[in-house]
Parts: sequence; structure tokens; C-alpha cells
Amino acid sequence: MVKYIFVTGGVLSSVGKGILTSSIGKMLQARGLKPTVVKIDPYVNIDAGTMNPYMHGEVFVTDDGGETDLDLGWYERFLDLSLKQENNLTTGTVYRSVIEKERHGDFLGRCVQIVPHVTNEIKNRIKNVGKNSDVDVVLTEVGGTVGDIEGLPFLEAIRQMRVEEGYENTLYVHVALVPILDVTGEMKTKPLQHSVNELRRIGIQPDTIVARSPKMIDAETLRKIALFGTIPESAVFCSDNAETVYEVPLVLDNQGMGDFICRRLGLKYKSKDFSTWQKYVDAMINPDTEIKIALVGKYAGLTDSYVSMTEALRHGGAACRTKVCISYLEAENFERVPESVSELSKYDGVFVPYGFGPRGTEGKIAAIKYARENDIPFLGICYGFQLAVIEFARNVCGLTDANSTEINPETPYPVIDLMPEQRGIEIKGATMRLGAHKVVLKKDSLAYELFGQEVIYERHRHRFEVNLDYIEALKDKGLSFTGKSSDGRRMETLELPDKFFYFASQFHGEFKSRLGKPSPEYYGFIRGCVNRKLGNRNGSLS
Ligand code: GLN
Repeated sequence: MVKYIFVTGGVLSSVGKGILTSSIGKMLQARGLKPTVVKIDPYVNIDAGTMNPYMHGEVFVTDDGGETDLDLGWYERFLDLSLKQENNLTTGTVYRSVIEKERHGDFLGRCVQIVPHVTNEIKNRIKNVGKNSDVDVVLTEVGGTVGDIEGLPFLEAIRQMRVEEGYENTLYVHVALVPILDVTGEMKTKPLQHSVNELRRIGIQPDTIVARSPKMIDAETLRKIALFGTIPESAVFCSDNAETVYEVPLVLDNQGMGDFICRRLGLKYKSKDFSTWQKYVDAMINPDTEIKIALVGKYAGLTDSYVSMTEALRHGGAACRTKVCISYLEAENFERVPESVSELSKYDGVFVPYGFGPRGTEGKIAAIKYARENDIPFLGICYGFQLAVIEFARNVCGLTDANSTEINPETPYPVIDLMPEQRGIEIKGATMRLGAHKVVLKKDSLAYELFGQEVIYERHRHRFEVNLDYIEALKDKGLSFTGKSSDGRRMETLELPDKFFYFASQFHGEFKSRLGKPSPEYYGFIRGCVNRKLGNRNGSLS
């Protein structure tokens, strides 16, 4: 019998529901139980693929090519799962299938309604994830805030699931902000009380409440939350500002949340083991050393745009017992004030992330040039990889004005060009080269040393690629393409072997990076940065 845990949020969004949901999963995993997670995004888009990362944060890519909400990234990083498109539900996907069924005649003769047709579709999708993935528990996180108009059908569906699946098989977790007033230093539970009331109005009585607060709640606040929430005090927990988000499962488990959930759902387990997780959390909290990374990007104002990348850098850091301090630099600033690129000399590493369109590309190219010429460790991902090719073509191969046709369609040297299968595609949703693809690595390369095997599968999200017409020219000047697609026609990794660390990939290693299992390219980069800082060229860290 699969058990269902539903996580809702109150007061305001971005209160840490994704981390809480992942942490509940971790508490279950530490007890040998198997969870999976569904994220509900009540927006009308079919997926996150067409949304601007500046407004919504990054688009997370799954092995099966889903362009999903970034919370799936948190679930994967915490729980080391490989989730699928079906683990992300939106109003768009739900309505699309209901409407397709209506057109098909599946509801012939009937009036198609939100209850029961849309709610049935939602429930079936949640249950199917449970059936398809051989798990003990399906965690479902409802995005947005309780009371949002677009969230109502989803809340109604999870309300019905209590009736259908039974009290002993379902659990409602509500998380809400408990702010502390600057003036009096007092913890305020009123907003939380209101969001619990809103939830009840819809017919859901939470079984447990998590107060998200800057500080651990005091006994008085806990009593109040229990009283107004109509739950025992033993069912109230607090997630305060932790040193790192990876500490949250430990913080909550110490308060007894894991035991509470297992008792309440009748989940049996023999023992509990957080030791490996704890080891990496300790490495993050008590590092041996510290490095500074310049992330030269286009969406630098919203760090959620780069969350998987940031976390992969931190995972690399934890594996090297190194604190990774990231500065998010706007690439355009290097265009406005070209000399300012020399500020990169203050950093131990330069990182150029993914991106789309022309804005900021010249600034990124200037940063890559600076890193290459000054032998500052460099890692480029996707656009970062493509821009490294352009920089090398221009400044080493002498191909003046070389570019990507994405940036300048008239360039005399289109070293990066649209993939042939992308020509003629007008539709924007889910049409890039997406998801896990096979990459073959050359032996005796940095890529092979890092990944430790010849064949790897890494996730992709792009339309452009290295133009094969320029491979020889680039190779002649020393740029090594050490990873390729299985037919050898698609360049996947590049490196400059005589540099301290200079590596870039067309794929996105960050999507498969986990705490304790860092993406090899990110780990290698951090190791390179630390070694350079410590002055040991061939030092190995682990
Ligand atoms: N804009 C580039 C492309 O579409 C790179 C995409 C990316 O960085 N994810 O190929």
C-alpha cells in the first residue's frame, strides 16, 4: 500500500516548501523507506520550458527530457532520484488531457466539469506516479500558496484523496512563515493561523505544521500554533535558517518529525542512518578552505536562475571540504567597462553558465579570454561551452568575428550553428535537444579522468552546436574535443590540456549532481581552483 504525503504552503511563496518536501523524503530514506515526489505547479503552462528564468528561476531538465520546475532539482539532489516528466504536474498538462479525452468522446453525453473530471485526472496522475515507481511513499508538493485561485482544483483533489485512500494512508503537512518583528523581536503566528484557516475552509485539516522562521520557535509560539492549528504540540515543527539547506532534514528529524510521520502513517523501519549525509553536511559547515568563484552570467540578479549550477559547485566543494563563495557577475558590465574584466584576477575560478540570445555574450567571451590567458581555472556549461569555442576561434585561430548564428546570423565564421534537425522548427515548447544523451569520452583526457568511464549519459538543453567545418582549425591550435556523441558528429566536451583547469561541456553536468555524488566536471573544477590557490598543480583532493 502506497502512502501519500501532501505538502501545502501558506502566507507567501518561496517559503521553502521544496526543501521541506525534499527533507521529508530524506528522513524517510534514512529509515530505509523509498519515497518519490510529485510537484504540482498550478500555472497554465504545459511545462516550465518556455518561462523566463529571470522570473521563474531555472528550468530543470530530467533524464527523459522534461523541462520542469526547479523543485524537481531539489528532490533529485536530496534523494538521488531520477525523476520523470510525469513527476511535474501543471494546470496545462491536466487540462490538456481532460480536453483531449473530451474530444475523443471519453465523456460522451456528459458535461465535463472541474469536479469530478479535472480532479479525477489530478488524482490519477498522482497515483500513477506511485504505481510506476515502486515506492513506499508519494510526496506531493502543491506549488503556490493556499488560497490561490489556480491552486483550488489541486487542493480539492488532494482533499478527496484522504477519503479514497484512508486516514492512515494520507498525511497533510502545512508549512507557513512565522516572521519575527524587527521592532519587538516577537514571533508572529497570525499569518500562519490565517493560512491554516484558509486550508480548513477548503476542507483540509493539516496533520502537522512546520513553522518556517528565521529562529527556532519558542515554547509559547509552538503552543499557540498547536492550539490554533488543532493539532498536538508534538505535531508542530520548525525549520529555522540553517547554515545550509542540506541541514534541514537533520534539524527536523532531531525535533522528531521523521518519527512522527512514520508513526502516523504506520511506516515500519528497522533503523535510522544519517551518517553519510551528516558527513557531507559537516564538510559544508566546517570546511578546510575557501575559494571564490566568479559566475559570469546574464540572469545574475536572480540566483534561482542558476540554482542547479550553484548547488553542483557546492557539491564539488563539499567533496573537497571547501567552502565555495560565488559572486554572480553581470556579463554586460564587462562590455560597458572592458578593463573591469581584470577584476576576475581576484577569483580562484571563472564559471560561465547556460544562456540564450545575444545579451551579455561579449562580456562572457571577454571573461573566458581573461581566464584562458591568465590560467584561471575555467568551467563552461552549454552556452559557456559554445562561447569558449567562439573565444578560441577569434583569439587563437584568428577567425575575426567568429560567432554563433544564434548571436550573429551574418558572422563570417559560424563556429557554432543550429543543429540540422532544428532547422524549420517554429514551435518553442519542448523542441530543443533535451534530456539524457550518450557521450563517448576519449581515453587519456581530462574528461575521462574526471568521469572515470568511456561512456556517460548527461542531460542536454540546446539548439546550437559546434560547426564541424571548423573542428580541424580549432584542433590545430590545441583545442581538444574529448567528448563526442556516439556518431562522433556532436562535440560534447572541450579542454586545453596545458592549462591548470580549462574544461567545458555542451551538456549540463549540474542536473545529475548530488550532495555526496558531485558532478565530475564541477568536482574537477573546484579541485582545480583549490589546487591553484594552494599552488599544487597536480594535487588530488577527495
Ligand atoms: N543558446 C544555446 C543553444 O540553444 C545554449 C543553450 C544553453 O545554454 N542551455 O544551443
